[in-house]
Amino acid sequence: MKNKDPKLSDSIQFIKGVGPARAADFIKLEINTVNDILFTFPRRISDRSQIISVNESKKFFGKDVSLQVVGISVNKSKRGKKEITTVIFGDDTGTIAGVWFNATWIEEQFIGREVIIFGKLQYRNGQMQITHPKVEFCDEGKENVSVGKIVPVYPLTGNLNQGAWLRIMKNVLAQYLPLLDEFYPEDFLQKRQLMSRQDAVRNMHFPDNIHAADMAKQRLIYDECLLMQLGILFTRHQDDCKQIGRSFKITRVIDERVRAILPFKLTNGQETAVAEIIEDMKSPKEMHRLLQGDVGSGKTAVAFYITLCAVANKTQVVIMAPTELLARQHEQTFTKFLSRSSKSKVRIALLTGGMKKSVRQVRLASISSGSVDIIISTHATLQEDVHFADLGLIIIDEQHKFGVSQRAALKLKGNHSDVLVMTATPIPRSLALTVYGDLDISTIKGSPPGRKKVKTMTPDSNKWRKIWDFLRKEFNMGRQAYIVSPLVEENENLDLHSAIEAYEALRKGEFSSFNVGLLHGKMKRKEQDEVMRQFREGKIDALVSTVVIEVGVDIPNATIMVVLHADRFGLAQLHQLRGRVSRGSNLGYCILMTDSKNTEAKKRLQILVESNDGFRIAEEDLAIRGEGEFLGTKQHGRGFKLTNLVTDFEILKTARDDALKILKSDPELKHKSHQAIKKELINQHGHQLIIAGSG
Ligand code: ADP
Ligand code: MG
Repeated sequence: MKNKDPKLSDSIQFIKGVGPARAADFIKLEINTVNDILFTFPRRISDRSQIISVNESKKFFGKDVSLQVVGISVNKSKRGKKEITTVIFGDDTGTIAGVWFNATWIEEQFIGREVIIFGKLQYRNGQMQITHPKVEFCDEGKENVSVGKIVPVYPLTGNLNQGAWLRIMKNVLAQYLPLLDEFYPEDFLQKRQLMSRQDAVRNMHFPDNIHAADMAKQRLIYDECLLMQLGILFTRHQDDCKQIGRSFKITRVIDERVRAILPFKLTNGQETAVAEIIEDMKSPKEMHRLLQGDVGSGKTAVAFYITLCAVANKTQVVIMAPTELLARQHEQTFTKFLSRSSKSKVRIALLTGGMKKSVRQVRLASISSGSVDIIISTHATLQEDVHFADLGLIIIDEQHKFGVSQRAALKLKGNHSDVLVMTATPIPRSLALTVYGDLDISTIKGSPPGRKKVKTMTPDSNKWRKIWDFLRKEFNMGRQAYIVSPLVEENENLDLHSAIEAYEALRKGEFSSFNVGLLHGKMKRKEQDEVMRQFREGKIDALVSTVVIEVGVDIPNATIMVVLHADRFGLAQLHQLRGRVSRGSNLGYCILMTDSKNTEAKKRLQILVESNDGFRIAEEDLAIRGEGEFLGTKQHGRGFKLTNLVTDFEILKTARDDALKILKSDPELKHKSHQAIKKELINQHGHQLIIAGSG
């Protein structure tokens, strides 16, 4: 096919060497255009450039090596149905065997010839060997394709083998690489020490050397980060410029009135957060802010303060919590605070999924008529028939339990509402810039006075006698405990103690002279409420539960948290659970039981023993489990091809700053020098940008 006007958007069939059959193979790999194939990088790079002697290779067992050797002898033998061919190769320093299975094609061709062999070095029966080595003759005139070079290893499918990939990639680069636009001016490339875009793509496929391969990757990671940051910030920036949000009036009088209702003085950390949030609420920009604070740092009080400020501005406020338990607890806390002022006319309503239809209808009517001010709710508030009279402020508690789309859905029910999302799982810095990159962040530092630290330990499960003994002593001193299991019911496939099982066993056995309660999400709401009430009132000594109590539950007299099969939980989640027993002024205990023999799992739990710092724990959790698992299924990250959020954090940060600078100087990316990157931005994030553009 003659191609007079080659473009990166050309179908792969335009590439020399790609016919319909090959094209079909590529399409299976989701490679449709030239641009796709240019940016489909090898799975790994195999360094065959360092040729070493047989003797030197001894240092590289288990690794790939390239050796320049001469074929000495060939021997064929049988093992079962397999025919084994062994060729002994050697140089001045020693010998090594090449071993092939069922390789009838090998006869005497290597004998007496100088070759380069490449493959993973093994040691078998007193002999160094490589199984199925790649072999190339040194004395042949034609250019070697792979041996003795740094070679890319591509994903395979159909009839697409490495050899074909290599040849096709060579053609792609020759034909199309010159069409690839540079994003940045020369002086910027120098300043950031970035390889040019064309060099980077070329070196990703065929690196000149290992250093160049690394530089190429760095450059493209920077591009990924910058494009993502521009994508996130562009939309926000445009909204901000429009100044279409609400300007709340928060006067001295309002401030003093609200503070008078609070039963305590805000901590310095709370004050700082309040000041930042209030600043946003006063400004005509829409607020999109995340409030993070370690468990027990007092986010609810901050939420209460700003809620009353918004209500004083005659708008409604909705607070959405991930569980009914938590929603009801918030309602109780708010009601308790409000009852401290005899003059308060603030009306508060609970809206949850478990309400009777008739009650719900009445609630919905008062919400839509504006006769309630504060609506405390679960995701029930997202339902279609929920309408607000005038929703000015949205607060989402434990936001990591919700998806991004749920946040957006709630926002649609408001009218340029300000949004505050709160989380007790500290957001690792890299996620703050990416998954949460469209939010401003406030952090509550420190916790309310008088907090004692929680003593954490990770005993083996067979130490249970001692543990239950300890719990009985604590019960006798009036303390209470949570005992958390990863499962509700017995599970035949897993040898785990379910909450119900543990409850039955403890109630009848070790804790028979104490009151044991059971709580899990499958219980009726009324029963759950009743159990929580009894626990709150101290009538239950040990509450056996699933992770329904993970977030938010606030019962200061409960000082012991026992987690069964702790290795089944993520670190951030365990830290949350531990947060349940750091509430009061008594020393708390967190006992993470495990019978895992896995040393990695134990090392992980050890991090909790050593650290009480939610930020450190979240970073470790992210590093161990990766972005996908850390965020859970509810949240989806924004896919990166090359960037690793943990190891490439520095590049990400630089790209964030650069993106901010670019948008500050050129908010709509109109400058000539920004056209290449703008084009790519529209390519990748076009959908979002159009939404922003159309208001
Ligand atoms: P979280 O940040 O985990 O949601 P909460 O808002 O539930 O924390 O607060 C934890 C506990 O600390 C609650 O019992 C709350 O009443 C108390 N608290 C919050 N702020 C203060 C403060 N400034 N002074 C004293 N106690 C406070
Ligand atoms: Mg909370």
